[in-house]
Amino acid sequence: MLIQPRSVKLTTRTGVEVRRTLPHRDLKMIGAWCFVDHFGPTEQTDGMVVAAHPHTGLQTATWLIEGAIEHRDSIGSVQIIKPGQLNLMTAGHGIAHSEISLTAAQQPGANLLHAVQLWIALPKEAIETAPDFEHQSNLPRFTIADGPSGSIATATVLAGEFMGHVAQTKTFSPLIGVEIRVRAGQTIEIPLNPAFEHGFMLVEGQIALSAPASGLNNTDIPVSGLEYLEKGPDSATLTAGTQDSIILLLGGKPFGEKILMWWNFIGRTHQDIAKAREEWNAALASRFPSFEDEIGGRIPAPDLPNVQLNAR
Ligand code: MN
Repeated sequence: MLIQPRSVKLTTRTGVEVRRTLPHRDLKMIGAWCFVDHFGPTEQTDGMVVAAHPHTGLQTATWLIEGAIEHRDSIGSVQIIKPGQLNLMTAGHGIAHSEISLTAAQQPGANLLHAVQLWIALPKEAIETAPDFEHQSNLPRFTIADGPSGSIATATVLAGEFMGHVAQTKTFSPLIGVEIRVRAGQTIEIPLNPAFEHGFMLVEGQIALSAPASGLNNTDIPVSGLEYLEKGPDSATLTAGTQDSIILLLGGKPFGEKILMWWNFIGRTHQDIAKAREEWNAALASRFPSFEDEIGGRIPAPDLPNVQLNAR
């Protein structure tokens, strides 16, 4: 099933647009992955200015293809992320953070901004875990296949295990995240965990996906689009078109729990969400301590709808 991306304006100072594939009416999650935003590439490197806002019940993962973003949060983290690195923030009981992209003047080489932001739902037993932040700058990166003149495909493991390489990223349910780069005109076969469902999101270039067990035969994925595969297949074949191409592979054991996502919060009940909203808007320091950044201010939670929110 192909999920077409839709444009969404973020609540930022500059009205940045992202392409979102998850959540979608027809697909809520892939394993615990429950939110996929693709941004750029754009020369608008000052475009990502997101003031302090809260999260609960999830992890956020920021992955950069190009550019640089500075992250600050309410547990004291200050971290610049560069391409090839992962920022993983575990919200658990509650955290607040802000993000600002850096210009080439501030961070040499950051001429374009090209990023993916992902959310990972926490399972019930971890939903109240203490907030945490980790910066992974040494993720497993390896050659998937060689051709006559060198590597034709490489993988960087963001989370979980892929082809025997394990990322040290802290996760709370069985899942994988892998960035795969395939040289123009090349075809590679990759293994899949048949107990996992998977999504392939095209970040750049052209990729055709084959997985006969899922009925896919050289199916083109549009840029920012996500091809979803139910659990079952144990391999897939990727063929790059005339450009070097980048695809993000997300997978996981079907989550098996209903979740309630509203604004920046994940809970299980209306009460979970209403409480988090109220405590953020009241600036309750025991849950969402304040922190300094260059952006200033904070994004208030909107009004709750006039209906009972239910986990789905
Ligand atoms: Mn956020």
